[in-house]
Amino acid sequence: MRAWLAALATVALATLAPATPALAGPWRAGADAVVQRALHDPTAYDYVESISVEVGQRLAGSEAAARARDWAVAKLTALGFKNVRVEPFPITAWLRGPEEAEIVSPHPQTLAIIGLGGSVPTPPDGVEGEIALFHTYADLLAAPPGSLTGKIAVVTQPMPRTQDGSGYGALNPNRRQGPSEAAKRGAIAYLTRSLATGVSREPHTGALNYEPGVPRIPAAALSTIDSELIDHLAERGRPIRIRLKLASTTKPATAWTVEGEIPGAVHPDQIVQLGGHLDSWDPGTGSIDDGAGMGIAVAAARLAASQGPPQRTIRVALFGAEEMDYASAPFAAAHKGDAPHMVVIGESDIGADRAWSVALPAGSTNTPEMRDYAAAVAPLGVMVAREPARYSGDDTVGLVRAGVPAFAVRQDASRYFDWHHSSEDTLDKVDPKQLNQAVATWAAFVYIAANSDIDFRALRAAATPQP
Ligand SMILES: [Zn+2]
Repeated sequence: MRAWLAALATVALATLAPATPALAGPWRAGADAVVQRALHDPTAYDYVESISVEVGQRLAGSEAAARARDWAVAKLTALGFKNVRVEPFPITAWLRGPEEAEIVSPHPQTLAIIGLGGSVPTPPDGVEGEIALFHTYADLLAAPPGSLTGKIAVVTQPMPRTQDGSGYGALNPNRRQGPSEAAKRGAIAYLTRSLATGVSREPHTGALNYEPGVPRIPAAALSTIDSELIDHLAERGRPIRIRLKLASTTKPATAWTVEGEIPGAVHPDQIVQLGGHLDSWDPGTGSIDDGAGMGIAVAAARLAASQGPPQRTIRVALFGAEEMDYASAPFAAAHKGDAPHMVVIGESDIGADRAWSVALPAGSTNTPEMRDYAAAVAPLGVMVAREPARYSGDDTVGLVRAGVPAFAVRQDASRYFDWHHSSEDTLDKVDPKQLNQAVATWAAFVYIAANSDIDFRALRAAATPQP
Protein backbone atom coordinates (compact mmCIF):
# COMPACT_ATOMS: atom_id res chain seq x y z
CA MET A 1 0.00 0.00 0.00
CA ARG A 2 2.79 2.37 0.97
CA ALA A 3 4.70 1.49 -2.21
CA TRP A 4 1.59 2.18 -4.24
CA LEU A 5 1.21 5.62 -2.63
CA ALA A 6 4.88 6.39 -3.24
CA ALA A 7 4.49 5.41 -6.88
CA LEU A 8 1.44 7.64 -7.18
CA ALA A 9 3.34 10.57 -5.64
CA THR A 10 6.17 10.04 -8.12
CA VAL A 11 3.73 10.09 -11.00
CA ALA A 12 2.10 13.24 -9.65
CA LEU A 13 5.45 14.98 -9.29
CA ALA A 14 6.50 13.93 -12.77
CA THR A 15 3.25 15.36 -14.13
CA LEU A 16 3.81 18.65 -12.36
CA ALA A 17 7.50 18.97 -13.26
CA PRO A 18 8.03 21.31 -16.22
CA ALA A 19 9.21 19.59 -19.38
CA THR A 20 12.18 21.89 -19.87
CA PRO A 21 15.79 21.12 -20.78
CA ALA A 22 18.35 20.79 -18.00
CA LEU A 23 20.04 24.08 -18.97
CA ALA A 24 16.87 26.14 -18.76
CA GLY A 25 16.76 28.96 -16.23
CA PRO A 26 14.13 29.54 -13.58
CA TRP A 27 11.75 31.48 -15.85
CA ARG A 28 11.60 28.96 -18.66
CA ALA A 29 8.89 26.64 -17.33
CA GLY A 30 6.55 29.53 -16.55
CA ALA A 31 7.24 31.20 -19.90
CA ASP A 32 6.57 27.92 -21.73
CA ALA A 33 3.28 27.55 -19.87
CA VAL A 34 2.28 31.11 -20.74
CA VAL A 35 3.08 30.49 -24.42
CA GLN A 36 1.02 27.29 -24.54
CA ARG A 37 -1.91 28.96 -22.84
CA ALA A 38 -1.72 32.02 -25.11
CA LEU A 39 -1.99 29.92 -28.27
CA HIS A 40 -5.52 28.88 -27.24
CA ASP A 41 -6.62 31.99 -25.35
CA PRO A 42 -9.72 33.77 -26.77
CA THR A 43 -9.09 37.16 -25.12
CA ALA A 44 -7.33 39.02 -27.95
CA TYR A 45 -9.70 37.96 -30.73
CA ASP A 46 -12.76 38.57 -28.56
CA TYR A 47 -11.42 42.05 -27.81
CA VAL A 48 -10.97 42.90 -31.50
CA GLU A 49 -14.34 41.44 -32.41
CA SER A 50 -16.05 43.38 -29.64
CA ILE A 51 -14.57 46.80 -30.44
CA SER A 52 -15.03 46.29 -34.21
CA VAL A 53 -18.71 45.42 -33.83
CA GLU A 54 -19.76 47.46 -30.79
CA VAL A 55 -17.75 50.67 -31.42
CA GLY A 56 -16.39 50.63 -34.97
CA GLN A 57 -14.36 53.60 -36.26
CA ARG A 58 -13.29 55.96 -33.48
CA LEU A 59 -11.53 59.02 -34.80
CA ALA A 60 -10.01 61.09 -31.97
CA GLY A 61 -12.21 64.06 -31.11
CA SER A 62 -15.32 62.51 -32.65
CA GLU A 63 -18.48 61.39 -30.88
CA ALA A 64 -17.30 57.82 -31.52
CA ALA A 65 -14.13 58.41 -29.49
CA ALA A 66 -16.23 59.11 -26.38
CA ARG A 67 -18.10 55.84 -26.97
CA ALA A 68 -14.76 54.05 -27.36
CA ARG A 69 -13.59 55.49 -24.03
CA ASP A 70 -16.68 54.19 -22.21
CA TRP A 71 -16.40 50.83 -23.96
CA ALA A 72 -12.72 50.54 -22.96
CA VAL A 73 -13.41 51.33 -19.29
CA ALA A 74 -16.15 48.68 -19.20
CA LYS A 75 -13.99 46.13 -21.06
CA LEU A 76 -10.90 46.49 -18.86
CA THR A 77 -13.09 46.30 -15.77
CA ALA A 78 -14.90 43.20 -17.04
CA LEU A 79 -11.53 41.57 -17.80
CA GLY A 80 -10.49 42.02 -14.16
CA PHE A 81 -8.07 44.93 -14.45
CA LYS A 82 -7.70 47.11 -11.34
CA ASN A 83 -7.28 50.90 -11.03
CA VAL A 84 -9.08 51.40 -14.35
CA ARG A 85 -8.96 55.11 -15.10
CA VAL A 86 -9.24 57.72 -17.83
CA GLU A 87 -6.56 60.34 -18.55
CA PRO A 88 -7.99 63.29 -20.56
CA PHE A 89 -5.86 65.57 -22.71
CA PRO A 90 -6.63 68.39 -25.15
CA ILE A 91 -6.41 67.94 -28.91
CA THR A 92 -7.54 69.70 -32.06
CA ALA A 93 -10.12 67.38 -33.58
CA TRP A 94 -10.09 67.06 -37.37
CA LEU A 95 -13.40 65.75 -38.71
CA ARG A 96 -13.85 64.64 -42.31
CA GLY A 97 -16.61 65.98 -44.53
CA PRO A 98 -17.67 65.00 -48.06
CA GLU A 99 -14.80 64.47 -50.49
CA GLU A 100 -14.57 63.95 -54.25
CA ALA A 101 -12.14 64.25 -57.12
CA GLU A 102 -12.27 63.78 -60.85
CA ILE A 103 -10.18 64.10 -63.93
CA VAL A 104 -11.87 66.86 -65.95
CA SER A 105 -9.68 66.63 -69.06
CA PRO A 106 -8.70 65.09 -71.41
CA HIS A 107 -11.99 63.33 -70.48
CA PRO A 108 -14.07 63.09 -67.28
CA GLN A 109 -13.19 60.25 -64.91
CA THR A 110 -14.04 59.95 -61.22
CA LEU A 111 -11.07 59.32 -58.93
CA ALA A 112 -11.12 57.35 -55.67
CA ILE A 113 -9.45 59.63 -53.12
CA ILE A 114 -9.47 60.27 -49.37
CA GLY A 115 -8.41 63.46 -47.60
CA LEU A 116 -5.26 63.31 -45.50
CA GLY A 117 -5.81 63.80 -41.77
CA GLY A 118 -5.30 67.46 -40.90
CA SER A 119 -5.79 68.72 -44.47
CA VAL A 120 -7.42 72.10 -44.89
CA PRO A 121 -10.68 72.00 -46.85
CA THR A 122 -10.91 73.28 -50.41
CA PRO A 123 -13.29 76.14 -51.23
CA PRO A 124 -16.87 74.75 -51.57
CA ASP A 125 -16.52 74.50 -55.36
CA GLY A 126 -13.16 72.76 -55.05
CA VAL A 127 -9.84 73.54 -56.66
CA GLU A 128 -9.08 72.75 -60.27
CA GLY A 129 -5.76 72.78 -62.06
CA GLU A 130 -3.40 71.10 -64.43
CA ILE A 131 -1.34 68.45 -62.70
CA ALA A 132 2.42 68.32 -62.32
CA LEU A 133 3.23 64.61 -62.16
CA PHE A 134 6.17 63.17 -60.22
CA HIS A 135 6.93 59.47 -60.36
CA THR A 136 8.99 59.73 -57.17
CA TYR A 137 8.93 62.01 -54.15
CA ALA A 138 12.58 62.82 -54.80
CA ASP A 139 11.55 64.26 -58.19
CA LEU A 140 9.13 66.61 -56.42
CA LEU A 141 11.88 67.72 -54.03
CA ALA A 142 14.11 68.40 -57.05
CA ALA A 143 11.52 70.75 -58.62
CA PRO A 144 12.63 74.40 -58.32
CA PRO A 145 10.67 77.05 -56.37
CA GLY A 146 7.80 78.51 -58.39
CA SER A 147 7.75 75.61 -60.84
CA LEU A 148 4.35 74.35 -59.59
CA THR A 149 2.53 77.69 -59.50
CA GLY A 150 -1.21 77.13 -60.00
CA LYS A 151 -0.78 73.36 -60.39
CA ILE A 152 -1.92 70.29 -58.50
CA ALA A 153 1.18 68.27 -57.57
CA VAL A 154 0.72 64.49 -57.93
CA VAL A 155 3.26 61.94 -56.63
CA THR A 156 2.74 58.35 -57.84
CA GLN A 157 5.65 56.51 -56.21
CA PRO A 158 4.60 52.94 -55.28
CA MET A 159 5.28 51.53 -51.82
CA PRO A 160 7.25 48.27 -51.71
CA ARG A 161 5.84 45.27 -49.84
CA THR A 162 8.18 44.21 -47.01
CA GLN A 163 7.92 41.88 -44.03
CA ASP A 164 9.13 44.54 -41.62
CA GLY A 165 6.91 47.34 -42.97
CA SER A 166 9.95 49.49 -43.77
CA GLY A 167 8.41 50.56 -47.10
CA TYR A 168 5.90 52.60 -45.11
CA GLY A 169 8.59 54.41 -43.16
CA ALA A 170 10.52 55.12 -46.35
CA LEU A 171 7.52 56.68 -48.10
CA ASN A 172 6.06 58.43 -45.06
CA PRO A 173 7.50 61.84 -46.08
CA ASN A 174 5.32 61.68 -49.25
CA ARG A 175 2.27 61.99 -47.07
CA ARG A 176 3.62 63.91 -44.07
CA GLN A 177 5.74 66.60 -45.72
CA GLY A 178 4.62 66.34 -49.38
CA PRO A 179 1.84 68.95 -49.08
CA SER A 180 4.18 71.63 -47.68
CA GLU A 181 6.97 70.78 -50.13
CA ALA A 182 4.51 71.15 -53.01
CA ALA A 183 3.16 74.41 -51.56
CA LYS A 184 6.68 75.85 -51.28
CA ARG A 185 6.97 75.37 -55.05
CA GLY A 186 3.64 77.09 -55.72
CA ALA A 187 1.18 74.14 -55.89
CA ILE A 188 -2.50 74.76 -55.08
CA ALA A 189 -3.23 71.14 -53.97
CA TYR A 190 -1.41 67.85 -53.42
CA LEU A 191 -2.25 64.26 -54.29
CA THR A 192 -0.11 61.27 -53.34
CA ARG A 193 -0.50 57.64 -54.27
CA SER A 194 -1.78 55.89 -51.12
CA LEU A 195 0.95 54.55 -48.86
CA ALA A 196 -0.35 51.05 -49.51
CA THR A 197 0.84 47.74 -50.93
CA GLY A 198 -2.43 46.45 -52.35
CA VAL A 199 -3.85 46.92 -55.81
CA SER A 200 -7.17 48.42 -54.88
CA ARG A 201 -9.59 51.24 -55.50
CA GLU A 202 -9.80 51.93 -51.77
CA PRO A 203 -7.61 54.93 -50.89
CA HIS A 204 -5.60 54.99 -47.62
CA THR A 205 -5.59 58.05 -45.36
CA GLY A 206 -3.10 59.14 -42.67
CA ALA A 207 -1.91 62.35 -41.07
CA LEU A 208 0.01 65.14 -42.77
CA ASN A 209 2.24 67.68 -41.03
CA TYR A 210 2.11 71.21 -42.40
CA GLU A 211 5.36 73.12 -42.10
CA PRO A 212 5.01 76.36 -40.12
CA GLY A 213 5.10 79.45 -42.31
CA VAL A 214 4.23 77.58 -45.52
CA PRO A 215 0.78 78.03 -47.15
CA ARG A 216 -1.53 75.15 -46.20
CA ILE A 217 -2.87 73.47 -49.33
CA PRO A 218 -5.54 70.73 -49.48
CA ALA A 219 -4.09 67.21 -49.72
CA ALA A 220 -5.49 63.76 -50.41
CA ALA A 221 -4.40 60.19 -51.19
CA LEU A 222 -5.29 58.46 -54.47
CA SER A 223 -6.17 54.78 -54.61
CA THR A 224 -3.27 52.79 -56.04
CA ILE A 225 -5.36 51.96 -59.13
CA ASP A 226 -6.21 55.60 -59.82
CA SER A 227 -2.57 56.57 -59.28
CA GLU A 228 -1.61 54.11 -62.03
CA LEU A 229 -4.38 55.42 -64.27
CA ILE A 230 -2.87 58.89 -64.02
CA ASP A 231 0.58 57.45 -64.84
CA HIS A 232 -0.81 55.77 -67.98
CA LEU A 233 -2.78 58.82 -69.03
CA ALA A 234 0.31 61.03 -68.68
CA GLU A 235 2.16 58.74 -71.12
CA ARG A 236 -0.28 59.94 -73.82
CA GLY A 237 1.31 63.36 -73.52
CA ARG A 238 -1.80 65.55 -73.19
CA PRO A 239 -2.25 67.89 -70.20
CA ILE A 240 -4.34 66.42 -67.36
CA ARG A 241 -6.66 68.62 -65.32
CA ILE A 242 -8.10 67.47 -61.99
CA ARG A 243 -10.78 68.95 -59.75
CA LEU A 244 -10.59 68.21 -56.02
CA LYS A 245 -13.20 68.94 -53.35
CA LEU A 246 -12.46 68.36 -49.66
CA ALA A 247 -14.60 69.42 -46.72
CA SER A 248 -13.40 69.08 -43.14
CA THR A 249 -13.78 70.90 -39.86
CA THR A 250 -11.54 71.34 -36.85
CA LYS A 251 -12.42 72.12 -33.25
CA PRO A 252 -10.85 72.03 -29.81
CA ALA A 253 -11.67 68.66 -28.23
CA THR A 254 -10.67 66.19 -25.53
CA ALA A 255 -9.08 62.77 -26.05
CA TRP A 256 -8.72 60.05 -23.43
CA THR A 257 -6.13 57.39 -22.70
CA VAL A 258 -7.70 54.53 -20.73
CA GLU A 259 -5.54 52.49 -18.36
CA GLY A 260 -5.84 49.41 -16.20
CA GLU A 261 -3.45 47.41 -14.04
CA ILE A 262 -2.70 44.03 -12.60
CA PRO A 263 -1.07 45.14 -9.33
CA GLY A 264 2.30 43.66 -8.40
CA ALA A 265 2.26 41.42 -5.33
CA VAL A 266 5.84 42.22 -4.25
CA HIS A 267 6.88 45.46 -6.01
CA PRO A 268 3.63 47.27 -6.90
CA ASP A 269 5.56 50.48 -7.65
CA GLN A 270 7.61 48.79 -10.42
CA ILE A 271 5.66 48.90 -13.66
CA VAL A 272 5.81 46.81 -16.81
CA GLN A 273 4.03 49.17 -19.23
CA LEU A 274 2.18 47.83 -22.29
CA GLY A 275 -0.17 49.48 -24.70
CA GLY A 276 -2.03 49.81 -27.97
CA HIS A 277 -4.02 52.74 -29.32
CA LEU A 278 -7.74 53.22 -28.86
CA ASP A 279 -8.33 55.74 -31.66
CA SER A 280 -8.53 54.76 -35.32
CA TRP A 281 -8.95 56.34 -38.73
CA ASP A 282 -12.53 56.77 -39.86
CA PRO A 283 -13.07 54.73 -43.06
CA GLY A 284 -12.82 51.19 -41.59
CA THR A 285 -13.55 49.71 -38.16
CA GLY A 286 -10.00 50.01 -36.82
CA SER A 287 -9.72 46.23 -36.41
CA ILE A 288 -6.09 45.78 -37.40
CA ASP A 289 -5.07 49.38 -36.54
CA ASP A 290 -5.18 49.16 -33.66
CA GLY A 291 -7.94 46.90 -32.33
CA ALA A 292 -5.57 43.97 -32.74
CA GLY A 293 -2.69 45.76 -31.00
CA MET A 294 -4.87 46.58 -27.99
CA GLY A 295 -6.19 43.02 -27.93
CA ILE A 296 -2.63 41.68 -27.93
CA ALA A 297 -1.56 43.96 -25.06
CA VAL A 298 -4.64 43.23 -22.95
CA ALA A 299 -4.41 39.46 -23.51
CA ALA A 300 -0.64 39.41 -22.91
CA ALA A 301 -1.04 41.22 -19.58
CA ARG A 302 -3.64 38.72 -18.33
CA LEU A 303 -1.68 35.70 -19.55
CA ALA A 304 1.48 36.99 -17.87
CA ALA A 305 -0.48 36.87 -14.60
CA SER A 306 -1.94 33.43 -15.29
CA GLN A 307 0.82 31.59 -13.37
CA GLY A 308 0.09 33.54 -10.19
CA PRO A 309 0.03 37.21 -9.17
CA PRO A 310 2.94 39.05 -10.81
CA GLN A 311 5.70 40.46 -8.59
CA ARG A 312 5.66 43.77 -10.45
CA THR A 313 2.64 45.74 -11.65
CA ILE A 314 1.55 45.12 -15.24
CA ARG A 315 -0.16 48.20 -16.70
CA VAL A 316 -1.98 48.46 -20.00
CA ALA A 317 -2.60 51.85 -21.64
CA LEU A 318 -5.10 52.28 -24.48
CA PHE A 319 -3.79 55.50 -26.02
CA GLY A 320 -6.45 58.00 -27.07
CA ALA A 321 -5.06 59.85 -30.11
CA GLU A 322 -2.19 58.10 -31.86
CA GLU A 323 -3.12 58.76 -35.45
CA MET A 324 -2.77 62.53 -35.21
CA ASP A 325 0.32 62.21 -32.94
CA TYR A 326 -1.32 63.66 -29.85
CA ALA A 327 -1.05 60.91 -27.19
CA SER A 328 2.67 60.51 -26.49
CA ALA A 329 3.46 63.85 -24.83
CA PRO A 330 0.41 63.92 -22.48
CA PHE A 331 1.09 60.30 -21.45
CA ALA A 332 4.73 61.11 -20.68
CA ALA A 333 3.63 64.20 -18.73
CA ALA A 334 0.96 62.28 -16.78
CA HIS A 335 3.55 59.62 -15.86
CA LYS A 336 6.53 61.83 -15.09
CA GLY A 337 6.29 60.63 -11.50
CA ASP A 338 6.25 56.89 -12.15
CA ALA A 339 8.49 56.90 -15.26
CA PRO A 340 11.62 56.26 -13.15
CA HIS A 341 9.92 53.08 -11.88
CA MET A 342 8.83 51.81 -15.28
CA VAL A 343 10.78 48.61 -15.85
CA VAL A 344 10.11 48.57 -19.59
CA ILE A 345 7.59 49.94 -22.11
CA GLY A 346 6.17 48.49 -25.32
CA GLU A 347 3.29 49.28 -27.68
CA SER A 348 1.64 46.80 -30.03
CA ASP A 349 0.72 48.68 -33.23
CA ILE A 350 1.61 46.68 -36.32
CA GLY A 351 -1.52 44.66 -37.02
CA ALA A 352 -2.77 41.17 -36.26
CA ASP A 353 -0.32 38.88 -38.04
CA ARG A 354 2.36 36.63 -36.58
CA ALA A 355 5.47 37.86 -34.81
CA TRP A 356 8.81 37.01 -36.41
CA SER A 357 11.33 39.00 -34.39
CA VAL A 358 11.67 40.80 -31.07
CA ALA A 359 14.00 43.63 -30.10
CA LEU A 360 15.05 43.51 -26.44
CA PRO A 361 16.12 46.40 -24.22
CA ALA A 362 19.80 47.28 -24.73
CA GLY A 363 22.30 45.06 -22.92
CA SER A 364 19.78 42.39 -21.85
CA THR A 365 20.19 39.69 -24.52
CA ASN A 366 22.65 37.55 -22.58
CA THR A 367 20.91 37.60 -19.22
CA PRO A 368 19.42 34.35 -17.85
CA GLU A 369 15.98 35.98 -18.01
CA MET A 370 16.17 36.91 -21.69
CA ARG A 371 17.89 33.62 -22.63
CA ASP A 372 14.86 31.86 -21.14
CA TYR A 373 12.61 34.23 -23.08
CA ALA A 374 14.41 33.59 -26.37
CA ALA A 375 14.14 29.83 -25.80
CA ALA A 376 10.42 30.06 -24.97
CA VAL A 377 9.53 31.93 -28.19
CA ALA A 378 11.94 30.09 -30.52
CA PRO A 379 9.37 27.32 -31.17
CA LEU A 380 6.96 30.07 -32.34
CA GLY A 381 9.42 30.96 -35.10
CA VAL A 382 10.43 34.19 -33.34
CA MET A 383 14.05 35.31 -33.26
CA VAL A 384 15.81 37.89 -31.14
CA ALA A 385 17.12 40.80 -33.23
CA ARG A 386 20.79 41.69 -32.80
CA GLU A 387 19.97 45.38 -32.49
CA PRO A 388 18.30 46.51 -29.24
CA ALA A 389 14.87 48.17 -29.26
CA ARG A 390 15.09 51.94 -29.61
CA TYR A 391 11.42 52.48 -30.44
CA SER A 392 8.21 50.69 -29.59
CA GLY A 393 5.25 52.60 -31.00
CA ASP A 394 4.48 56.30 -31.43
CA ASP A 395 2.72 56.63 -28.08
CA THR A 396 5.77 55.45 -26.12
CA VAL A 397 8.19 57.95 -27.69
CA GLY A 398 7.93 60.50 -24.85
CA LEU A 399 8.71 57.96 -22.14
CA VAL A 400 11.46 56.23 -24.15
CA ARG A 401 13.10 59.65 -24.54
CA ALA A 402 12.75 60.08 -20.77
CA GLY A 403 14.82 56.92 -20.34
CA VAL A 404 12.30 54.09 -20.02
CA PRO A 405 13.78 50.97 -21.71
CA ALA A 406 11.86 49.78 -24.79
CA PHE A 407 10.79 46.32 -25.91
CA ALA A 408 9.43 45.77 -29.43
CA VAL A 409 7.75 42.89 -31.25
CA ARG A 410 8.01 42.85 -35.04
CA GLN A 411 4.95 41.27 -36.62
CA ASP A 412 4.72 40.22 -40.24
CA ALA A 413 3.65 43.40 -42.04
CA SER A 414 3.51 41.83 -45.51
CA ARG A 415 -0.30 42.13 -45.69
CA TYR A 416 -0.83 44.94 -43.21
CA PHE A 417 -0.45 47.83 -45.65
CA ASP A 418 -2.98 46.32 -48.05
CA TRP A 419 -5.67 47.49 -45.59
CA HIS A 420 -4.10 49.93 -43.09
CA HIS A 421 -5.89 53.34 -42.82
CA SER A 422 -8.50 52.33 -45.41
CA SER A 423 -12.12 51.17 -45.48
CA GLU A 424 -10.74 47.63 -45.60
CA ASP A 425 -9.34 47.72 -42.05
CA THR A 426 -12.04 45.34 -40.81
CA LEU A 427 -12.41 42.24 -38.62
CA ASP A 428 -12.22 39.69 -41.44
CA LYS A 429 -8.50 40.55 -41.85
CA VAL A 430 -7.74 39.17 -38.36
CA ASP A 431 -6.50 35.57 -38.36
CA PRO A 432 -7.03 34.26 -34.78
CA LYS A 433 -4.10 31.81 -35.03
CA GLN A 434 -1.60 34.45 -36.09
CA LEU A 435 -3.03 36.89 -33.54
CA ASN A 436 -2.50 34.40 -30.71
CA GLN A 437 1.07 33.70 -31.83
CA ALA A 438 1.75 37.43 -31.42
CA VAL A 439 0.00 37.37 -28.02
CA ALA A 440 2.24 34.48 -26.94
CA THR A 441 5.34 36.40 -28.01
CA TRP A 442 4.34 39.42 -25.91
CA ALA A 443 2.97 37.43 -22.97
CA ALA A 444 6.14 35.39 -22.34
CA PHE A 445 8.19 38.60 -22.23
CA VAL A 446 5.77 40.33 -19.88
CA TYR A 447 5.67 37.24 -17.65
CA ILE A 448 9.45 37.28 -17.20
CA ALA A 449 9.75 41.08 -16.95
CA ALA A 450 7.04 41.17 -14.27
CA ASN A 451 8.23 38.18 -12.25
CA SER A 452 12.01 38.58 -12.24
CA ASP A 453 14.23 41.29 -10.80
CA ILE A 454 15.72 42.12 -14.19
CA ASP A 455 16.90 45.75 -14.24
CA PHE A 456 16.98 46.90 -17.88
CA ARG A 457 18.30 50.35 -16.96
CA ALA A 458 21.34 48.91 -15.18
CA LEU A 459 21.97 46.48 -18.05
CA ARG A 460 21.79 49.32 -20.57
CA ALA A 461 24.16 51.46 -18.51
CA ALA A 462 26.62 48.56 -18.27
CA ALA A 463 26.42 47.97 -22.04
CA THR A 464 26.85 51.64 -23.00
CA PRO A 465 30.48 52.70 -23.41
CA GLN A 466 31.24 55.60 -21.05
CA PRO A 467 32.69 58.74 -22.71
ZN1 LIG B 1 -1.76 52.31 -35.39
